[in-house]
Amino acid sequence: MYTINVKTRYRFRFYPTDAQAGELARVFGCCRYVYNWALRLRSDAWRTEQKRISYSDTSTMLTTLKQQEATTWLTEVSCVPTQQALRHLQTAFLNFWAKRGRYPSFKKKRNRQSAEYTRSAFKWDSINKNLVLSGLGRLDIRWSREFKSAPTTVTIIKEPSGRYYITLCLDEVFEKLPKTEKTVGVDLGVNRLATLSNGERIANPRYLGGNLSKLARLQRVLARRKKGSGRWQRQRVKIARLHEHVGNCRRDTLNKFTTDLVRRFDVIGIEDLNVRGMTANHCLARAINDVGMGMFRGMVDYKCERYGKTVKLVDRFFPSSKLCSACGHVVESLPLDTREWDCPKCGAHHDRDENAAKNLNMAEGHSVTARGGEVRRQRASAPRRTLRRSVNQLGADCALVHD
Ligand SMILES: [Zn+2]
Repeated sequence: MYTINVKTRYRFRFYPTDAQAGELARVFGCCRYVYNWALRLRSDAWRTEQKRISYSDTSTMLTTLKQQEATTWLTEVSCVPTQQALRHLQTAFLNFWAKRGRYPSFKKKRNRQSAEYTRSAFKWDSINKNLVLSGLGRLDIRWSREFKSAPTTVTIIKEPSGRYYITLCLDEVFEKLPKTEKTVGVDLGVNRLATLSNGERIANPRYLGGNLSKLARLQRVLARRKKGSGRWQRQRVKIARLHEHVGNCRRDTLNKFTTDLVRRFDVIGIEDLNVRGMTANHCLARAINDVGMGMFRGMVDYKCERYGKTVKLVDRFFPSSKLCSACGHVVESLPLDTREWDCPKCGAHHDRDENAAKNLNMAEGHSVTARGGEVRRQRASAPRRTLRRSVNQLGADCALVHD
């Protein structure tokens, strides 16, 4: 039997007591403060004197900061999450320098809050499934799925909807799925969730449409409320809840779809889309769909890794739509609203998406053979939007779409 060890993250809902919720609010506040403080330090040093402040510099400075009278409250919570906040900032900078991400932005109170605890700050009892966190005590977690290994890190998350989750980082063992000797190309769309190279069409889930119009309505109401008022706050929570619900539905659909794909096919060919660049549009349905694309890509990646299958990434400049999958002729233009077309050379009739999926299945891609403990892949080239962002723009705009 082939098995593979894979670093895995599992998420569970949990319900804090009033005391724990209060303590967590303090922890989140400290993490946010430390993250933003270090980000400002690093940005200012770079902007004014082109000096780079490293992670270890900020770590030393944090010790001094905690000793100052005005910020002694930082010592009232566990020191681990604040230290991790500095590490997260470092990761954000590494991603920015490697052109994988945008310049780090300031954390806001109304966005998702998180605090990470490493091994020294929690106790795990695998027999009774008890998790005790430093400064918080035992957590009331709903164990919605099984796992065998002991968590290496524990992250507490509070969504803008007010719900609490816990994410465990695990080192789980997975059995590879049997080989099927079949390959597939997958074209993701807006009108349809996906089209496969074998002609299968996967429709967008029905619930989405209704929820999207509801979301648009709630947002129009929000726009009329006075910013910062109580009514505005309540409306924001309503929107956040619906956002979370739509996100959960989307995640559920994609989970089922991607699990089915890795079971049935050995190689899954997908377009290496620039997901980050695409989320910059203002159309709600489109924006949510783009989030779905990023989510799909992530799921296919980790599921192929877990179950011993291969993701084939096809270059994003490959003309998957304009290429005739029957004879290889490339048409000059194919407007986005053309759903079906005939090849001028061989006369083959094509469904736009199915043809694209067929090409993705046949194309040479840079295959990413799934291997455990692999380093993060480098992006082929930087998304243009990141390059244009200057240090002065820092924190000026918040992310348009958050998952
Ligand atoms: Zn043709």
